[in-house]
Amino acid sequence: MNCGLCLHYLRAENKCPGCYTGRKVNGKPIKCGRRLCQERKGDFCFECGKFPCDSLKRLDKRYRERYGMSEIENLEYIKEHGLKKFLAKEQKKWQCPKCGGIICCHTSLCFNCQLKELKRKKKKYRRNEK
Ligand SMILES: [Zn+2]
Repeated sequence: MNCGLCLHYLRAENKCPGCYTGRKVNGKPIKCGRRLCQERKGDFCFECGKFPCDSLKRLDKRYRERYGMSEIENLEYIKEHGLKKFLAKEQKKWQCPKCGGIICCHTSLCFNCQLKELKRKKKKYRRNEK
């Protein structure tokens, strides 16, 4: 999951700083609801012997159906081409055609020029989460 596209990362209030391994806030590791497991030792799930595990497969299926992206495809791309190339590709894929801002994968809205619509949609998103 590219944190840069996540609703919780993009929002202005109570913003998540991203869960990339090793990052800490006030000396504590970041706790992210999206983070799959505590077993992972490396930076990416593909470094794990269980990759792709059942919980990743479930997450991947949900994201493919709901949000038009695949965590497993992303991980395989990073494994083959590296994080830098992946992020460049993501930048293109999720860039707003109107303003160049970033489109959130969870809402399909640009956090720069579609803030009004985002506020309307926020309630719907919360319902979906439960
Ligand atoms: Zn925009």
